Amino acid sequence: MSWKQQDSKYIAGTYARYDLEAVKGKGARCWDVNGKEYIDFTSGIGVNSLGFCDEDWAAAVSSQAQKLQHISNLYYTQPMEDLAQGLCQRTGMNKVFFCNSGAEANEGAIKTARKYSFDHYGKGRHKIVALENSFHGRTITTLSATGQAVFHQYFDPFTDGFLFAKANDIQDIKSKLSPDVCAVMVELIQGEGGVVPLREDFVREIAALCKEKDLLLIVDEVQTGMGRTGKLLCCEHYAIKPDIVTLAKGLGGGLPIGAVLLGEKCENTLGAGDHGTTYGGNPVACAGANVVLKKLDENLLEQVSQKGAYLKSRLLACKKVERVDGKGMMLGIAMKGKDSKQTAKECLERGLVVLTAKAKLRLLPPLNISREELEKGLAVLEEVLG
Ligand SMILES: *Cc1c(COP(=O)(O)O)cnc(C)c1O
Repeated sequence: MSWKQQDSKYIAGTYARYDLEAVKGKGARCWDVNGKEYIDFTSGIGVNSLGFCDEDWAAAVSSQAQKLQHISNLYYTQPMEDLAQGLCQRTGMNKVFFCNSGAEANEGAIKTARKYSFDHYGKGRHKIVALENSFHGRTITTLSATGQAVFHQYFDPFTDGFLFAKANDIQDIKSKLSPDVCAVMVELIQGEGGVVPLREDFVREIAALCKEKDLLLIVDEVQTGMGRTGKLLCCEHYAIKPDIVTLAKGLGGGLPIGAVLLGEKCENTLGAGDHGTTYGGNPVACAGANVVLKKLDENLLEQVSQKGAYLKSRLLACKKVERVDGKGMMLGIAMKGKDSKQTAKECLERGLVVLTAKAKLRLLPPLNISREELEKGLAVLEEVLG
């Protein structure tokens, strides 16, 4: 039986997969079952921050796997303590709750916001304002926070208490801030929604409103975080300090891990027994994340900005490119007269793996991609979009 036949026979059909059977990778290159080489501009949807099988990352992960792979949150382990300390010192946040995915991190953020409000204001002040066109995950509650109708078929009833405001429309946000609201939740660049950045003035005004009304500002940096936009956190570009930041995708460099970073207001909101997850802070995942965080120094972050700007300028010179949105190496290409899915297939046939986000092509290359790999990928894009 071929892999494709096995897949359709034994795996739930939730993914429309592209025609690539991947067997190994190194840096921003990977190879399929027939030995065909591809350049990777996806990082496994923003996950493989250091590309495929970075030597230091792989060494840390395998050494931890041979030492202590898991013991549970009933006990202390060093990789998780080190990661929490590193994340707090680098971001200025105060405490961390570890989990396993972006949706789970957002669930943790939502629970924290509701408990903070319960502790300070009692029952009933539990609503959360999110934005239209947002994406916060696939669990019932994070879907409830997701402002895209396409995800809302079939699965009702949803979790109560989410309101949606228009992105970049401060009057609309204000009109939604009734006395029973406890938090505002945003992605600074809407990723799945089509790489749509929020305006700085809009974000700063939300931050000011949250401060004034004691609403928690939750910034979902599951996609934008961990250096993707050229800063460790995208909120540094906006000069805001959220109360809660969620991370996942790029944090583990390829292993499942999520984190809820808690600011001063809510650092002690969750107490013993209030929340938990079996795998949270898993030593192997944390050992990988520690390497990612260490390698994300000023030099690498600067490179992300520079390579992103270079990609953008080369793409803007292509005839079929209308606009390039995003920051650092999180880019969305708006095209003239080209379908995004079809274009991604054309790229794949020519040996370049890219993503789509709605009508745009989406690029999330490994943060440490080499010049040579970048040029090779760009050559394909220029062929397809030129
Ligand atoms: C991918 C993503 C999520 C969901 O993450 P999972 O790990 O798939 O649960 C949530 N928010 C944003 C902004 C994302 O990009």
